Amino acid sequence: METKGETMRTLKTMNSFDGASAVPPVHTEKEFMGLEEKYGAANYHPLPLVIARARGAWVQDPSGNRYLDMLSSYSALNQGHRHPRIIAALKAQADRVTLTSRAFHNDQLGPFLEQLSELSGFDMILPMNTGAEAVETGIKACRKWAYSVKGVEPGKAEIITAADNFHGRTTTIVGFSTEAQYQDGFGPFTPGFKNVPFGDADALEAAITPNTAAFLVEPIQAEGGIIIPPAGYFQRVRELCTEHNVLLFMDEIQTGLGRTGRFLACEHEGVRPDCISLGKALGGGVYPVSAFLADKEVMDVFSPGDHGSTFGGNPMGAAVARAALDVIKDEGLAARAERLGTQVMNRLSKASSSVVEDVRGRGLLIGIEIKKEVGPARPFCEALMKRGLLCKETHAQVIRLAPPLNIDEDDLGWAVDEILEVLG
Ligand SMILES: *Cc1c(COP(=O)(O)O)cnc(C)c1O
Repeated sequence: METKGETMRTLKTMNSFDGASAVPPVHTEKEFMGLEEKYGAANYHPLPLVIARARGAWVQDPSGNRYLDMLSSYSALNQGHRHPRIIAALKAQADRVTLTSRAFHNDQLGPFLEQLSELSGFDMILPMNTGAEAVETGIKACRKWAYSVKGVEPGKAEIITAADNFHGRTTTIVGFSTEAQYQDGFGPFTPGFKNVPFGDADALEAAITPNTAAFLVEPIQAEGGIIIPPAGYFQRVRELCTEHNVLLFMDEIQTGLGRTGRFLACEHEGVRPDCISLGKALGGGVYPVSAFLADKEVMDVFSPGDHGSTFGGNPMGAAVARAALDVIKDEGLAARAERLGTQVMNRLSKASSSVVEDVRGRGLLIGIEIKKEVGPARPFCEALMKRGLLCKETHAQVIRLAPPLNIDEDDLGWAVDEILEVLG
């Protein structure tokens, strides 16, 4: 380890880091990693770091080394680690009631749905737990809408998706992925989906048929490498969907909740989708909470028994989500993401580096693409980790930067210094 983030500047904010008590860990870092390797399925390739404590934008390993978290669990930590208001809500609710199932009502779900409806502008919400479940819920809603409202013949509904999409890991969802590894060995897949290139409205128009129920698309392809579509694309998509009576279903699981500088990333495009999925930061980084949101005409397709989830809408998740939404609003995190994101982009794009192909982003969702001839992005992430800064490559070439939106401004400046040094 060289600096481990232990500069004067980082120490300033680390003073507020609590919980760094002197209880010696039962295992060494190496042993913790060994246990995961021995007993855990090998479906991830984590950086060699064990996190034992965290607060705000900082995490700490069992030996006390501190790192600045510039990944935020893929944007599930927009509010930072262990935000006091969210933890307080979690603890208070844990002392009252945690799970009721939807067989009964609870006193948290209604207020949560009302708050999310008011913030998002959608009439109605179906709460789930993980992002993939919210997308699956949306797929079911769009199909049922196609049959019961649009009048598509039974069994014929189609959903159009974008190449290089990421919507989760269920068998249906990976079935319309264009990433070979996501599909390899997991077929056969659910029929009724077809892909068009992202950013190409003409291709979408050509793919629409009378059986098309929906176009499912991310406002920015985050996993795909922070791909921002050309200006005007989504306006044209909106027009096409309206003209052909096709639902525009935008997956805001990673881009929503302030990340890109707006409450929802679709606001940048000036379009209103017919329905969206939310997840990740909706649970404030402490509890899995996701949701499918739509207006009444679409959500009305569901009748009792059509769909469900044992934990979906549980009072613990609802209480946490209410606090998570309060924090985003009360702390003005979307505006903060916009302001800090502009600063980072300005510094990164001015820096001339022989290894960088492109820098792109919106708000605090930023991608640094490494030139192919230089090699993959992962060694840069490893070098940054040694300097006390955590980020992760997405696909082979792109370093994704997505810090908590309430990251200290000086800490973020320090992170950019380190990144510029590593990029040379
Ligand atoms: C993370 C993500 C999902 C899947 O969410 P999970 O909670 O991992 O199931 C879906 N769509 C997008 C855009 C995502 O970023």
